[in-house]
Amino acid sequence: MRYKGIPWWGWAAAAVLYVGAAAAAVEFAWNRAIDALADVGEHRLDLYAASLKSELGRFEMVPALVARQDSVRALLKASPDEARGMLPAVDTYLEAVNDDVGSGAVDVIDAHGTVIAASNWNQPVSFVGTNVSYRPYFKDALAQGRGRFFGIGTNTGVPGLYFANAIHDGDTAIGAAAVKVSVDALESAWRTPGEAAIVVDSNGVIVISTQPEWKFTAMRAITEPQQRDIQASRQYAGRIVEALQFRRVGDWNESAWIGIFPDPRRAGDTARFLVMSRPAPQGQDTIMALLDTAGARRQQRIAFAFVTGVFLIAALYALYAVQRRRVIVEKLKAQEALRRANDQLETTVAQRTAALTQANAQMQREIAERERTEQRLRATQQEIVHAGKLAVIGQMAAGLTHELNQPLVAIRTLCDNARTFFERNQPAQAIANLERVGRLVDSMAVLTSELKAFARKPEVERVAVSLGEAIAHARLIYESRIRDEAVRLDVRIAPGTTVYAESSQLQQVIVNLLGNALDAVRDASTRVIAMEAGEADAQGRVRFTIDDTGPGIAPDVLAHLFEPFVTTKPRGQGLGLGLAITSRIVEGFGAKITATNRDEGGARFTIEFAAAEPQRTEHGR
Ligand code: ADP
Repeated sequence: MRYKGIPWWGWAAAAVLYVGAAAAAVEFAWNRAIDALADVGEHRLDLYAASLKSELGRFEMVPALVARQDSVRALLKASPDEARGMLPAVDTYLEAVNDDVGSGAVDVIDAHGTVIAASNWNQPVSFVGTNVSYRPYFKDALAQGRGRFFGIGTNTGVPGLYFANAIHDGDTAIGAAAVKVSVDALESAWRTPGEAAIVVDSNGVIVISTQPEWKFTAMRAITEPQQRDIQASRQYAGRIVEALQFRRVGDWNESAWIGIFPDPRRAGDTARFLVMSRPAPQGQDTIMALLDTAGARRQQRIAFAFVTGVFLIAALYALYAVQRRRVIVEKLKAQEALRRANDQLETTVAQRTAALTQANAQMQREIAERERTEQRLRATQQEIVHAGKLAVIGQMAAGLTHELNQPLVAIRTLCDNARTFFERNQPAQAIANLERVGRLVDSMAVLTSELKAFARKPEVERVAVSLGEAIAHARLIYESRIRDEAVRLDVRIAPGTTVYAESSQLQQVIVNLLGNALDAVRDASTRVIAMEAGEADAQGRVRFTIDDTGPGIAPDVLAHLFEPFVTTKPRGQGLGLGLAITSRIVEGFGAKITATNRDEGGARFTIEFAAAEPQRTEHGR
């Protein structure tokens, strides 16, 4: 199973690697950022401790100095009447001290805990007359010589740090001097965006805080008895100390932990702080620095984004590389396929070329063979034409013998009779006989000259030849047969009709056709042979027909009639060459010969002679 060319385990490995790397990066970023934050926290605590020490240290000595003041001691020892006179001097003294050191208030308390003189003696809200016996700083001062606590002024309602020192007369504590210091300056000096600084007193109550709303809330659970004590001391002006709503979610190191606090910037929201603490330089207080971890969260997000980005880039690159590899593999495959196809093509081309060459050679051989055959055929045809002629001559020999024999017998008889006439001295009769002999010899000479003309080599030149003359020659050759076999020869040729042919060859054609017709009608009851030729048509073509009253052409012969050696005649009478030669000759004239059987019986041969070329006209022979 693959997706985009990468197997599923590749994707799974990448996912695991990504989750691992992201987790590690987030953890690393967090640790680094918190470490850096802890460093900052350490510095802050140093600073807070130092400022607490110097700022409050300044006021710590004030009640001790006041306690040593003679006028103060005298006031405490004086009777009420005496005291009335001494009070203004002490009040102004306290006012001057308060002004000089910059504290909130300086006062003198008698042994019962009643403020008898105060720097704010002339203020609307004055401490004078207030009983502070329940206040721990007073109690501690009387019991241990000095007291110290954070609290809210019962009269003023203003929070502050109280320092107190016992005033002694000999070994007896006759009262106490106290200074109240405002921590407003410290708080505003410590205020830093994204941070909070607090000081927690021994009760676990926040007494100094850069977050005003956290002030006088408890960092740890306050038990019922504790709550009662707090109420009794009116340390926090009688208010019920609520616990600060925070949750400790983890420890960072021995002096730092992480907690979720109400967000100082957005009411109702919470924020995660790194909380670091250290004991305050004075008393049992604890200084705490709270540092917002939002920066660390940001670092985590940046690390996460960075890892995600790197992974995305790596994944994209991997995808790209895989795609590229795929494309290259495809390309190589395509090239390989192309190469193979090319090879195949070359092989095929080579094979085809070889086959073609072979076929060509074969064709050349066949052409040569055909040419040779044609040559042979031509030669054979010539021979056949000649042989045909010889055959006709052979056939004619019988007729000729008969033709010549008759006059020879007649000449013999005439000569014998002439001799007798001479012996009987009848010269006129003898001369008449000799004249008859002369005429017979003449007609014999005509016959031989015909024979000579027929045997002559055919002339290839075609001219306009008289059809009637050719028919007359053929008729002469078969004269005796026509007469002996009582054949009626009807010749209907318009006088002067010429055809485009060669004279002796045309004679041969007519002789052949007439010979066949004579053969056909020999055993027929009606023996008629009709030869006909109409006028030349518009194009100068002449149509010649020779009909007979014979049995017609045998059906199986008809289709092959013009092929050589096709014959129905007994051996020795026919070679089957006559019509073959005839059709060859006719073709040579540019004419066409056809054969059909007539409806009324007998065969019909038709020759369509081509038109003669006008300038080649031969007038007779
Ligand atoms: P051959 O006369 O030597 O047989 P041909 O080529 O002249 O050779 O004639 C071939 C055949 O055609 C003859 O044997 C005959 O059967 C047939 N044939 C030719 N002319 C005629 C015709 N006028 N009537 C009937 N049959 C014919």
